[in-house]
Amino acid sequence: MTTSLKPSKTVLIIGAGVAGLAAGCYAQMNGLRSKIFELHDLPGGLCTAWERKGYIFDGCIHYLFGSGEGQPFNELWKELGVLPGRAMIDHAEFMRVSDSRGKTLVTYADPEHLAQHIAELSPADAHLGKELADGVRTFCNFDMSILQQKPKALMTAQDWRDFGMKMTPYLLPLAKWGLVEAQDYAKRFKDPFLQRAWRHVFGWAEIPMMAALSVLAYMHTRNAGFPSGGSLELARDIERRYLALGGEIYYKGQVEKILVEDGRAVGVRLYNDEVHRGDYVISAADGRGTLFDLLDEEHVPGKMKELYDGRLPLHSMLQVSYGVDRDLSAEPHWATYLLDEPLLIAGEAYREIGVKHYCFDPSLASPGKSCLVVMLRTPYSYWQRIYGRRLYDTEQSQVADILLEFLEGLYPGIRSQVEVSDVATPLSYERYTGNWQGSSCGWLLTQKTMTMMIQGMPKTLPKVENFYMAGQWVEPGGSVPICAMSGRNAIQLICAAEGSPFIAKQG
Ligand SMILES: Cc1cc2nc3c(=O)[nH]c(=O)nc-3n(C[C@H](O)[C@H](O)[C@H](O)COP(=O)(O)OP(=O)(O)OC[C@H]3O[C@@H](n4cnc5c(N)ncnc54)[C@H](O)[C@@H]3O)c2cc1C
Repeated sequence: MTTSLKPSKTVLIIGAGVAGLAAGCYAQMNGLRSKIFELHDLPGGLCTAWERKGYIFDGCIHYLFGSGEGQPFNELWKELGVLPGRAMIDHAEFMRVSDSRGKTLVTYADPEHLAQHIAELSPADAHLGKELADGVRTFCNFDMSILQQKPKALMTAQDWRDFGMKMTPYLLPLAKWGLVEAQDYAKRFKDPFLQRAWRHVFGWAEIPMMAALSVLAYMHTRNAGFPSGGSLELARDIERRYLALGGEIYYKGQVEKILVEDGRAVGVRLYNDEVHRGDYVISAADGRGTLFDLLDEEHVPGKMKELYDGRLPLHSMLQVSYGVDRDLSAEPHWATYLLDEPLLIAGEAYREIGVKHYCFDPSLASPGKSCLVVMLRTPYSYWQRIYGRRLYDTEQSQVADILLEFLEGLYPGIRSQVEVSDVATPLSYERYTGNWQGSSCGWLLTQKTMTMMIQGMPKTLPKVENFYMAGQWVEPGGSVPICAMSGRNAIQLICAAEGSPFIAKQG
């Protein structure tokens, strides 16, 4: 028999991204009253999509951990109302990387297939193919969700023992794969094509190999699917669950200040001067904005401020989307092209361009039509310098045009089939979600931030009681399931503070 918290306790949550929505759902499940304040008029934050002339351009999920029945993170999606209702689409390969001479590396999720493919591409590198396949097999059984089952601050000696037992088989693989980035591993190949291709095969060159192999492993076990309907529909599932549990969302409710009295968070003030008082405040919004704007300097320890001094890696993105009157479903869904000559885009020389189509989900475009997306890492400072001037719009249309010229080389005739194009810069992400420098995942997961991810970052402030942080700025590498777990963790902490057992139930 479980007891719920006193209904009078109110939790105020800043941000209706996945972390904030999840925090709201678990607050309601635990008998708390909760209110979510969201600056935008939509749920999801970065977990989003946008419609243009009948095309739905997805801006987020490539793979969702937890999509597979009975597998790590799967319970989470059942608790948050995403599953079992939403169909998941699995891929057999993550991405392809091709050069101009016709060589193609395919990252097959099936380890056997991957090893065989690498051996065929370069017999001298067959041993690396085998090593990578072994790595994928190892991580197939690794339950990443154990890192967040309970907030570290609440773990008892017994919890640590259980955690240690679960982690023991992975200590050597973690040491082996956690400290090497894809760009360094690439140098081990003898074949020059593989050396170049491997850097780009997982989206960013600094990705720790452990994370890269885990993606393939979870794809192999069908636990990293794409939610049909896209990222915004997944966010709407969680929003529906939250509302059904009795939660309240204030859209266009941008928080200006977290109110702190006598060293305790007691409420929030919105930009429209509305004041909402509560017993707990969770910020599931941008980390920098939370610490530097919503709170006062005196509340934030120096060590936490240092995180935002520019030394840690971020990931600012440019997404150029095209709605085309052409069926691209026979093409690989995601391919990166290695260029012989660099392409100059928004002040940067690119030697590789990644192109993705979404024909695998027929709900995103009309029959016979396709959503085609190019995603590039781009310096935030460039876009910030020109923002607010006419040059900003000109640059966006030039970027769309340069990339379309490139696509014309891949798919002759496509220029005349484009019905709509759309450019999202880091400033777009920043404007719509408040994320510092438009970062797509908070701190980019690299060897440097990997330890922060495993050890866990602080989620509370010593000088502000009843205040918690959740989401991608306290979970390096971000990601939809990990941010949702982070919202869950915040409520576990509140339940512990109230002396109540934590309750999670499926919708
Ligand atoms: C292009 C792209 C691809 C990605 N691919 C994947 C993937 O394949 N798989 C995966 O798992 N993850 C992926 N991610 C990462 C994942 O989307 C994010 O890490 C995660 O959604 C972050 O959730 P969050 O709730 O922590 O933050 P956010 O989504 O940033 O939510 C924060 C919310 O707070 C609101 N807010 C901010 N300030 C205020 C304020 N002052 N007052 C009120 N509201 C405020 C914002 O509007 C926003 O809604 C991708 C992200 C991007 C951009």
